Amino acid sequence: MEKALVVGAGLVGSLQAVLLAKKGHQVDVYDRRGDIRNVEFIGGRSINLALSNRGWKALELAGIAQDIKDISIPMTGRKMHAVNGDITYQAYGKEGEAIYSVPRGELNRKLILKAAEHENVNLHFDMKCTDIDVKKGSVSFEDAKSGEKVITEATQIYGTDGAFSSVRARLQKTDRFNYSQEYLRHGYKELIIPANEDGSHKMDKNALHIWPRGEFMLIALANLDGSFTVTLFFPFEGETSFASLDTDAKILAFFEETFADAVPLMPTLLKDYHENPSASLVIIRCDPWNYEDKVLLMGDSAHAIVPFYGQGMNSGFEDCSEWWRLAEKHGDNWAAMFKEFSEVRQPNGDAIADLALQNYIEMRDLVGDEMFLLRKKIEKKIYSKYPDKWVPLYSMVTFSHTAYADALAIGKKQEKIMDPIMARTDIVQTWDSDEVEDAIMSQL
Ligand SMILES: Cc1cc2nc3c(=O)[nH]c(=O)nc-3n(C[C@H](O)[C@H](O)[C@H](O)COP(=O)(O)OP(=O)(O)OC[C@H]3O[C@@H](n4cnc5c(N)ncnc54)[C@H](O)[C@@H]3O)c2cc1C
Repeated sequence: MEKALVVGAGLVGSLQAVLLAKKGHQVDVYDRRGDIRNVEFIGGRSINLALSNRGWKALELAGIAQDIKDISIPMTGRKMHAVNGDITYQAYGKEGEAIYSVPRGELNRKLILKAAEHENVNLHFDMKCTDIDVKKGSVSFEDAKSGEKVITEATQIYGTDGAFSSVRARLQKTDRFNYSQEYLRHGYKELIIPANEDGSHKMDKNALHIWPRGEFMLIALANLDGSFTVTLFFPFEGETSFASLDTDAKILAFFEETFADAVPLMPTLLKDYHENPSASLVIIRCDPWNYEDKVLLMGDSAHAIVPFYGQGMNSGFEDCSEWWRLAEKHGDNWAAMFKEFSEVRQPNGDAIADLALQNYIEMRDLVGDEMFLLRKKIEKKIYSKYPDKWVPLYSMVTFSHTAYADALAIGKKQEKIMDPIMARTDIVQTWDSDEVEDAIMSQL
C-alpha cells in the first residue's frame, strides 16, 4: 500500500483524498485551516460556484454527485440586465443542459466528510506546510495551535494547496521548473441580495444574472437560502474604479447610475461594500506539474485562472478524474503516471487560462451586444442541425469533456468562419437563410 500525503484539503484536495482512498492507498490529508466538518454553512452567508459537467464527472467517481446535486441550483442560461432595466435571456446549452450554483463551504465540508468515511484516510487540521524535501518525500508542518513542528514522509505528495501553494513554491527551486504569475488590473468584491421575507428569491434563481457594462460587470448567482451572492468585477485604479469610489455618495451614485435595477434589491449595499475586501485576481501557470515520481500539483496550485468561465474548480476536479484514468492505466508506476499527467494536463491548464480571460471580455462587454447575440443564435441553429459538425465553444468547455486545448483550437477555427458571415451587410435579415447556412457548412 502506498502512503499518499495530500497538502491542502480545499475542494480539489478533499476530492483527491476520496479517490486515493478508493484506490486503496493510505492517505494523510493536511490543511492549515481548522476542521470545517462541524460548521453549518447552509442558511449562513454563502459564496457559490458554478459547477458543470467536468466537475460532475469527478464527483460521480467519488460517489458524491447526488449529495451535491441536492444542495445545488440549476442555472439554464444567463439573464442580461441592460442599463435601462431591460432583461434578455440566453440559454447556455440545449434543452436539459445547465450549470449549477453550489455553496462552496458546504461542498468542501461534504467532500471532507466523504473522505473521512474511509478507514485509510487520516485528516489533520491547523497544520501548515512549511517545507518539503522533494528527494526524500518528506513534508514539514507547523501546528497552528501549539507551534509544534512535525515532519512526515510519504511515497507520493499531492500539492493541492491553492494558488499560493507552498508545495509549488518548493518546486520553483528545482531545476528547469517554469513559473509565471500575472495579476489582472481588475479585482472583485462580493455583495449580497437577501431573500424575500418568505425566503423566496428576489430574481429568477435558475439563471446567472449579469449586468455587463464594458470595463466592468456585476453578476449574481442564487443561494439555497433565497439570497444571491453578487460579485462586482471592477478596475482597482482609474477614472471609475475601487480607488475612485472613495465616498458613500460616490458609491451610491455609481450603483444607481450603472446598476439601477439591482440597487433596490441590495439594502445593505454600502455596508457590504465597505466590509467586504476588494480581492485580486491572479493567473498562475507552471510546468511541469510533477517532480519525478514524488510530487504532483493539482487544482489551483498548478493552474490558477480567472473565474470568468466558471472553470477553476471544474478544471481542478477534472485533474482528479484524469488522475483516476491514468492510475488505471499505469498502476503503481508513479514515474510514468506523474509524467503523463503533467504532459497531458499542463497544455489544458494553459488553454483554460486563456479561455477564461477571453470570456471576461465576452461577459462584461459582448453579452449585451445585439450582433454578438445574433452570432450565438446562428451557431445554435447550426449546432442543433449538425451536432456532430459544430459544437459552440461555450458548450465544448462547459458541457463536454473535450480537452480544453482542443476546444480553444476549434473555437478559433469557428471564429474564422463566423467573422466574415457576421460582416455581411444583410446578416440581420438573412441569418436564417439556406445561403448563410451553406456558407458556414462549406467551410467545415
Ligand atoms: C471570485 C471567484 C469565483 C469563482 N467561481 C468559480 C466558479 O463559478 N466555478 C469554478 O469552477 N471555479 C470558480 N472559482 C475558482 C475556484 O474557487 C478554484 O479553482 C478552486 O477553489 C480551487 O480549488 P483548490 O482546492 O485547488 O484550491 P483552494 O480551494 O484554494 O484550496 C486550497 C486549500 O489548501 C490549504 N492550504 C493553503 N496553503 C497551505 C499550506 N501551506 N499548508 C496546508 N494547507 C494549505 C487552504 O487552507 C485550502 O483549504 C472562482 C474563484 C474566484 C476567486
